[in-house]
Amino acid sequence: MTTTIASNLAAVKESIGKAREAALSPADDVELVAISKQQPEDRIRAALDAGHRVFGENRVQEAAGRWPGFRETFAGVQLHLIGPLQSNKAREAVALFDVIETVDREKIARVLAKEMASQDRALPCLVQVNTGKEPQKSGIDPEETEGFVRLCQNDIGLPVKGLMCIPPIDEEPAMHFALLAELGKGCGLPWLSMGMSGDFETAIRFGATHVRVGTAVFGDRG
Ligand SMILES: *Cc1c(COP(=O)(O)O)cnc(C)c1O
Repeated sequence: MTTTIASNLAAVKESIGKAREAALSPADDVELVAISKQQPEDRIRAALDAGHRVFGENRVQEAAGRWPGFRETFAGVQLHLIGPLQSNKAREAVALFDVIETVDREKIARVLAKEMASQDRALPCLVQVNTGKEPQKSGIDPEETEGFVRLCQNDIGLPVKGLMCIPPIDEEPAMHFALLAELGKGCGLPWLSMGMSGDFETAIRFGATHVRVGTAVFGDRG
């Protein structure tokens, strides 16, 4: 297990490096966020043993069940929340995570800002953009993104560092990555979280600073 995960990590990192070299204007640095949702703990431990420290989980409950334990053994873990957040979980999320990637509505932005203030923890946040305007998907519509980012920064006082998107499953992701990059630039934001196992190289071509890779690192989810 340890060797498989270690070699998967090495292979993904090599692909990230190659994609950066092939890109016209890649980000200065591309962070690999290893998505450990629904993965058995031995696989996560293998990634930690291999020296990886940046992970993403989509459920507060699942993350709360295992990451405090891993943090006791492994220093320097950076945990990203990549799934939708409910207001009643905001306190726990702010205590548990280091980056919130899925700010998708005003209410959660306000609740998060309040929690960060009361816990004295200013977590970098990303605004999730629904680039495909899919009704079942959370996120801010593209044309409302800049206004929402300004609201978060100026009125709510949330530390917004970037944008994230999950392109529609049945569409060419490149146009969504291009759109997110353009919106991020318009907002003057440094971070772009985009690209998963199947398309992270494409995302890097469009300037991704964070790629969220699950199955290519850990194998299929249980
Ligand atoms: C599950 C998930 C990923 C990782 O997907 P893979 O295809 O396993 O790489 C990335 N981003 C989000 C938001 C996810 O929910």
